[in-house]
Amino acid sequence: MEKNPFVTKEQVERIAEQYPTPFYLYDEKGIRANAEAVKEAFSWNPGFREYFAVKATPNPYLMKIMQDYDFGFDCSSEAELVLSDAVGADGPHIMFSSNDTPDREYVLAHKLNAIINLDDITHIETLERLIGPAFPKTMSCRYNPGGVFKMSNGIMDNPGDSKYGMTKEQLFDAYAQLKAHGVENFGLHAFLASNTVTNDYYPQLAGELFALAREAHEKLGIHFAFINLSGGVGIAYRPDQTPNDIRAIGAGVHRVYDEILVPAGMGDCAIYTEMGRFMMGPYGALVTKAIHEKHIYKEYIGVDACAANLMRPAMYGAYHHITVLGKENAPCDHVYDVTGSLCENNDKFAIDRHLPKIDMGDYLFIYDAGAHGFSMGYNYNGRLWSAELLLKEDGSVQKIRRAETLQDYFATFDETEFAGKLGVEKRG
Ligand SMILES: *Cc1c(COP(=O)(O)O)cnc(C)c1O
Repeated sequence: MEKNPFVTKEQVERIAEQYPTPFYLYDEKGIRANAEAVKEAFSWNPGFREYFAVKATPNPYLMKIMQDYDFGFDCSSEAELVLSDAVGADGPHIMFSSNDTPDREYVLAHKLNAIINLDDITHIETLERLIGPAFPKTMSCRYNPGGVFKMSNGIMDNPGDSKYGMTKEQLFDAYAQLKAHGVENFGLHAFLASNTVTNDYYPQLAGELFALAREAHEKLGIHFAFINLSGGVGIAYRPDQTPNDIRAIGAGVHRVYDEILVPAGMGDCAIYTEMGRFMMGPYGALVTKAIHEKHIYKEYIGVDACAANLMRPAMYGAYHHITVLGKENAPCDHVYDVTGSLCENNDKFAIDRHLPKIDMGDYLFIYDAGAHGFSMGYNYNGRLWSAELLLKEDGSVQKIRRAETLQDYFATFDETEFAGKLGVEKRG
């Protein structure tokens, strides 16, 4: 599908007068239309709830938008729990799906009444040590079937190689132990494949989890309050990919629900999801300016953003589509590597990319950076975090996080003799 930027060159020129590039720009209209589609796709299930995966885009303003749809938050760290609490989410709207969890994060999750989703059977003992023998009434366990997970379109993922979740034997053992700790409402969770661009992933995963829950229900006599399909619903980063159809995905899950859960008398079971990428990915872009061109053995365009702002291309070789704003209809008759300034040769947003002729000062719109974009940023080479801006439905722009300053970057030297020289207040 052809990709079109959600802003024009003129809009970006106006925004850049106030907020210098690079910046992240999020599209409120797109976020809301997609959230509505998700809600509708699962409206057949009365208890349905999406728990937005906070790690994808941990910004309270965007989390507030999620709350307009009664969505909750999937957290796996202290900071994500604190953010969820700060936007006013109550316990049932916080899913704590962590792994290798520090003690104090369990304590905080419990204090916030979050739903705790245990990654491992040994965490039952940890939890007992931390909160005592009386557990919350509702708890969940994460399952890992091992082996390979093969989808009908041939895409495979490798749960057997992943660190998450429990074996089937451990899972049943964990449920029995939790029951003895007073748990009454059980959840089952699994995340078996990432960025799936197929409408079959959720239905196939749901089929496996429903059958497993049914078996646990029959063997252990436990009540399943929810099945959590977690994340993994992908987006079409490449223009030649067909985007997922969330309505078809919801209908596919409905079909297996009626086939497996309803006949077992489990038709009161809620469906939960923890999508991150699908909720925000396409509705955020990194906007950056061309500041250098270089002609050596290849043609390079240097921009004012770098991999510290958007790591996915450098880390995974991930494709992010790029449009030169104002040149949407120009022929892509040039071939460029688009680079940032890091002293790392993998700092390239695009390699051998066909683009229109780029002039210095042109704005580049890097697509699908709304999830796992800003949040995966880092400070290598002393590069600073950019601002995050929200393009509101009425066309106005709201700053939802300012750009980092050198003072922010040096702030943790405040207890050293260099504080003054680095422009931070001396403390301690
Ligand atoms: C990362 C993560 C998600 C979100 O994954 P997406 O691919 O962004 O949808 C959901 N649940 C858990 C436990 C995760 O770790």
